Amino acid sequence: MTVVTSRQHGVAVLGIFVADLAFRASSLPGVGQTIAGSGFAMGPGGKGSNQAVAAARAGAGVTFISRLGQDAFGNDALALWSREGITPRAPQVTAQPTGAAFIYVHEVTGDNAIIVVPGAAALIDAADVDAAADAIRGARVFVTQLEQPAAAARRGLEIAREAGTVTVFNPAPALPFDDALYALCDYITPNEHEAAALSGMPVETIEDARRAGDFFLAKGVGCALITLGDKGALLHSASGSEHIPVFRAGAVKETAGAGDAFNGGFAAALAEGATAHEAARFGAAVAAISVTRAGTAPSMPTRAEVDALLG
Ligand code: ADP
Repeated sequence: MTVVTSRQHGVAVLGIFVADLAFRASSLPGVGQTIAGSGFAMGPGGKGSNQAVAAARAGAGVTFISRLGQDAFGNDALALWSREGITPRAPQVTAQPTGAAFIYVHEVTGDNAIIVVPGAAALIDAADVDAAADAIRGARVFVTQLEQPAAAARRGLEIAREAGTVTVFNPAPALPFDDALYALCDYITPNEHEAAALSGMPVETIEDARRAGDFFLAKGVGCALITLGDKGALLHSASGSEHIPVFRAGAVKETAGAGDAFNGGFAAALAEGATAHEAARFGAAVAAISVTRAGTAPSMPTRAEVDALLG
């Protein structure tokens, strides 16, 4: 892919970090009940932070814009980003704790139930984004999601658009937002569930994704990149549709975080000057490797691993 050296291959990500706390047990406790579980694991999570890690391991210079609590999980987030070479723009505040997710995993079936509390990141507002505007203006690509308030996502997209920074909006989780956001998106990257919720039409097949893609184009996005799990992804713009097949990188272990891997890889490749098609293939390769490993952020591959898969 063609490498462009301006703006230091920069990706600015606005989003949240949460500490993922996974408990394995034979059932969920009922109200008033205490039960013994059979396992516990803690790991870094939050869609934005996971995407930032994926982009950094893929070789991008990454700035992460967020808010943390002044506590142990906040320090964990800073330590993670420091290890990954990510520059934080994430003040630690005392008003709320750092976000955390309670993840119940059934010890036999693997089914899960999750409670996420964004904590301090729920307080991210437009003023926080303005305070990091230089990082967005200085990046080649700006990425955000909907785990922090939509008003903050909108401000970030506006700043990026004014500066000519390419915008990638991953509308996850599927929450309602102001239609004005669509016109600020060079790329919108919903998964099939988010695409269905936003378009109001079923999205299960590639043909369905094409129809949902038309819906997003009519709303004003430049290009829709709809991910369809192990059916791959559809890149859909006014100039046509392309199916991006999945790569196979080994036995699938855990698909949680596949979308984050895809988005982080896609952004990193765009920042290097890749075409949308090349960047989507790159994102698919990052995701394909990540699903062969446990965890979300820890499962993200290095650049060398992605290059080896792409051949
Ligand atoms: P999300 O995690 O947001 O639900 P998807 O499940 O749609 O996202 O996955 C995002 C991308 O990850 C897919 O478009 C595909 O490229 C890749 N992917 C997902 N599942 C697999 C899999 N089992 N094998 C290989 N690649 C996968």
